[in-house]
Amino acid sequence: DEMAGPRRIRALHQDVVNKIAAGEIIVAPMHALKELIENAVDAGSTSLEILVKDGGLKLLQITDNGCGINKDDLPILCERFTTSKLKAFEDLTSIGTYGFRGEALASISHIAHLAVTTKTAESSCGWKAHYAGGILRPAKPGQSADPKACAGRQGTQITVEDLFYNVPTRRRAFRSASEEYAKIADVVGIAVPATATVRDRIRMVHSSAIANELIDFELANEQYGFKTDGLVSSANHSAKKTTFLLFINHRAVESTAIKKAIEQTYSTFLPKGGKPFVYLSLEIDPARVDVNVHPTKREVNFLNEEEIVELICDDIRTRLGKVDTSRTFMTQS
Ligand code: ADP
Ligand code: MG
Repeated sequence: DEMAGPRRIRALHQDVVNKIAAGEIIVAPMHALKELIENAVDAGSTSLEILVKDGGLKLLQITDNGCGINKDDLPILCERFTTSKLKAFEDLTSIGTYGFRGEALASISHIAHLAVTTKTAESSCGWKAHYAGGILRPAKPGQSADPKACAGRQGTQITVEDLFYNVPTRRRAFRSASEEYAKIADVVGIAVPATATVRDRIRMVHSSAIANELIDFELANEQYGFKTDGLVSSANHSAKKTTFLLFINHRAVESTAIKKAIEQTYSTFLPKGGKPFVYLSLEIDPARVDVNVHPTKREVNFLNEEEIVELICDDIRTRLGKVDTSRTFMTQS
């Protein structure tokens, strides 16, 4: 009787809704790790320790020395849309933190085993809590789900085990742990504020060959309220695929439009099919940036994007031209 008429419309079970949402926010282990690092940075951490097993599928653990979480907030920590960073919609115009939608920990708790150990400066002891499906759960069956007192230093340790254990289709999609590990190395190596220069970090995560071919890049413009700096490969570097590391207001984001424009700029300098390595950090007046286009903030919109991208590409073109001549000069002398 499937043909008899339309099927009835029903509300999805909350658990299904949460699992679907979680799968959109955490597509791969690197996304979970990136969210956790950003939370640690938002919490004012100056040092992070990261442990990764099986490309993050078995274990992701990050320990920070940030402000910690109040014990009284632990029961709602992993509920969807609970955050300490945003109160009113208008706050979005001036938001300076990486997170604000309160979805990361909730998402992780729906698709992994999550444990949180935390201590604030005011608290005399630390607290440890386990989560599943957005709420506190007992560490072992039969025990109480309440957070347990423990020893510890100020800061937070988040442990994520068996990511996607209850999403078999997603788990199967990961071909190899080493591939996921490589993506993680990118995020950790470049996104974490550290004392090493960006060039040194590129040397560590990518290769010296690339790091040595990078040209310093810098540009500022008052009319469009932005400044940018970065490292772009010279015409001597030509890869099969573009590496494009884009940060807008210190947040790692993606932009197909900017990537295309830059590839276009390089096409006249590189052999056919050759692609560049580009690291760009763009600082734009927060009032001109809309960070709310995507739940993960992986993409952002900003005013005068076309004009700004054109200025950047013009500048890269000039620099590539200059390096070319100096190379020729050097080989002649
Ligand atoms: P969001 O970052 O968007 O607020 P999350 O789900 O990532 O949402 O985190 C929820 C809340 O948990 C944060 O607003 C913050 O108050 C707290 N939190 C998460 N991680 C940490 C951490 N490492 N240190 C201190 N507080 C944290
Ligand atoms: Mg967050």
